[in-house]
Amino acid sequence: MIFKQLFDEKSSTYTYIIASNKGREALIIDPVIEKTEVYLNELKELNLKLVKVIDTHIHADHITALNELHKRTSCTKIMGEHSKSEVVDIKVKEGEKIKIDHIELSAIYTPGHTDCSYSFLMKDRVFTGDTLLINGTGRTDFQNGCPKEQYKSLFEKLLKLPENLMVYPAHDYNGKKYSTIGNEIKNNPRLKVSSMDEYVELMNNLKLDNPTMMDLAVPANVKGLTLDQL
Ligand code: FE
Repeated sequence: MIFKQLFDEKSSTYTYIIASNKGREALIIDPVIEKTEVYLNELKELNLKLVKVIDTHIHADHITALNELHKRTSCTKIMGEHSKSEVVDIKVKEGEKIKIDHIELSAIYTPGHTDCSYSFLMKDRVFTGDTLLINGTGRTDFQNGCPKEQYKSLFEKLLKLPENLMVYPAHDYNGKKYSTIGNEIKNNPRLKVSSMDEYVELMNNLKLDNPTMMDLAVPANVKGLTLDQL
């Protein structure tokens, strides 16, 4: 398997390229529109054909490259079934598989950060979007976010995965690249709560500013804008 983790400095977003050595098919998770050329160059250098792109949720802090990549490569645009996107090609349900050659990703519905947040499980790793971050969890105060739902997504789904499973989030603000489920259970301060009520209390008192891009990014991501439409 070919695996690349790319970083957008402006929004601190991690984007993942996953591809098979044999068939040279590639999939990208959470691409950022300004980085489209970087992804296309990577694909070209590695002699890969982009066949699928996934967004873990409707992002509020950057504009997705889903639509620009689709325009340039005809790749299939995928999100979870609760997505408000008006343009994705496939909306996957909980447990549904996304395949490129022999590589398989399974969708897990993990609402809380938004009501359309999904995680994607591979053999040895899970892409957690903004649900489970390294030493943190995604904020729950907009886009129909809900701390109760997030608690359930975390404690009833993600944290029940094997402890040695690698965790690849959609963001990190401290230079950390990945973690494991076991590390997060042990060290993540947000997961030290003893009840759902305590988690709700914690999340409702974060007092964070809205992302500066939010008013532009959310509608652009729902409508599926390409570079020439910005
Ligand atoms: Fe987000």
